[in-house]
Amino acid sequence: MSERKRPEIKSSYSTIGYFKRNILQWRYRNSCQYPWRTTKIKFHALIAEILLQRTKAEQVIPVYKRLIKARPSINTIAVMPFSKIKNIIAPLGLRWRAKKIKELACTLKNSYKGRIPANIDELLALPGVGPYAASAYLSLHSNIRALLIDSNIVRLYGRFFGFGVHAETRRIRALTNLINLITPRRQCRRFNYAVLDLGRNICKPKPTCPICPVLLKCHYYNKGKG
Ligand code: SF4
Repeated sequence: MSERKRPEIKSSYSTIGYFKRNILQWRYRNSCQYPWRTTKIKFHALIAEILLQRTKAEQVIPVYKRLIKARPSINTIAVMPFSKIKNIIAPLGLRWRAKKIKELACTLKNSYKGRIPANIDELLALPGVGPYAASAYLSLHSNIRALLIDSNIVRLYGRFFGFGVHAETRRIRALTNLINLITPRRQCRRFNYAVLDLGRNICKPKPTCPICPVLLKCHYYNKGKG
């Protein structure tokens, strides 16, 4: 792997502590309420995480609402005609997701007695569930500590800690180590919601730094280097 793909990631305990504190406090006052964030039905939350892969939350909302309108159980989706699932999901493109959701329901019904496993390895073995969906499901919907990495979050960390972000950055060990260090053992759900929302809504490609809760120690803001 070239040097370009191995950015040096420097951080200090005080900077990490500052980031954690401020972002957790910010989350108290700022929370985006998407419908899958308030559902008590974990299967629906898992479906939402599959739909959200490579798709904006705003696009997913109407499709998700339509799919779960009748509050379908795992068994209901397992026996639902594939064409019906496909038609509901069609506006999002990426039609493989319809097939995966159907397969997921069948697998949970036949191999897991209608239960969703609560550990990352078993989740990753399920149809349609990739690393991001598995971590998001565990941390956001089951409050089990899991490391969340998506492009918005990588951009946020890259700017805050001052390392370059490239196509391969999310796969480097130093980034995983940093996120492992920074993700709290307690309050993981709140922390992960906060980084998701901050990365998506404030540390956007064109960031709105003046309203950012971590600007005082942000490398990008203070040094102008992204
Ligand atoms: S200060 Fe600006 S660049 Fe830094 S993390 Fe906040 S929004 Fe992103």
